[in-house]
Amino acid sequence: MELQRIGVVGAGQMGNGIAHVCALAGYEVTLVDLSRDQLERAIETIEGNLARQASRGRISEAERGAAVARIKTGTDYGVLSGAGLVIEAVTEDERVKRQVYEQLCPRLTPGSFIATNTSSISVTRLAAATDRPERFIGLHFMNPVPVMTLVELIRGIATSDETYEMAQALVKRIGKVAANSEDFPAFIVNRILLPMINEAVYTLYEGVGTVEAIDTAMKLGANHPMGPLQLADFIGLDTCLSIMQVLYEGLADSKYRPCPLLVKYVEAGWLGRKTERGFYDYRGETPVPTR
Ligand code: NAD
Repeated sequence: MELQRIGVVGAGQMGNGIAHVCALAGYEVTLVDLSRDQLERAIETIEGNLARQASRGRISEAERGAAVARIKTGTDYGVLSGAGLVIEAVTEDERVKRQVYEQLCPRLTPGSFIATNTSSISVTRLAAATDRPERFIGLHFMNPVPVMTLVELIRGIATSDETYEMAQALVKRIGKVAANSEDFPAFIVNRILLPMINEAVYTLYEGVGTVEAIDTAMKLGANHPMGPLQLADFIGLDTCLSIMQVLYEGLADSKYRPCPLLVKYVEAGWLGRKTERGFYDYRGETPVPTR
């Protein structure tokens, strides 16, 4: 049966982007978060991003209006009862994700699918925390979701063919391209990307270069569109640290140890763009390096 209603749990940077692309593709979307403020901010972001796409002629005015009208919000998981698929995009913390599944599963019909947008945690282990491991899959969107084309598809050990086919069809309908990854820590993109970001933080920590020198070096010397520290701020330093911890513990290899300076920034609550401070300070007109 074709999916009609999609639930998204977690209205942070990823959740709002996932809601955006699903609504634009014609799905009815219900976005849930614990925080009303976060939901209001998410709707503002989605409306702003859709308006930008319309002003650039990428979508029509009618498509913009219809997408906005398809998104509902709520703070209670009960509003997700009619969803054929719920995509979980809450904080990258296994305990938090487990709590969400515990509350979510009893409210869903047995036929509903659940997907996680985790960047690094084992899909098989998360699936085992639900009442439907065979209807559970990893759907790893990239940030910013409306712009980035890739979605990694990660099957847990119990994921059924039906669930995998549903996910493939969804990725196609929202106009994205899927890459399959086996269920190993951090999958493909982050297994490669995060050690590079962590190494950039070590480079800063050891005084090899300043924030500006490191980012300029990688932009102009390796042709990266963003410097690694700028990218870390964009991803969120808490998310970067969690992914490094998952790699470090999951692969039991010291080469993945998180840089102490990354830990310090997270302890300070300087999480990057989302808190307006990370390796750069975003409170003024132009970002200023914090070291
Ligand atoms: P974020 O911090 O921007 O948002 C997380 C949201 O989850 C917040 O709005 C928070 O209020 C909400 N939340 C927390 N507990 C909740 C609960 N019990 N019920 C409902 N909502 C709850 O984080 P993000 O960057 O959007 O990341 C979300 C997920 O997406 C993580 O698993 C992350 O690893 C993954 N991801 C992130 C990126 C990235 O670049 N940031 C890229 C791909 C995947």
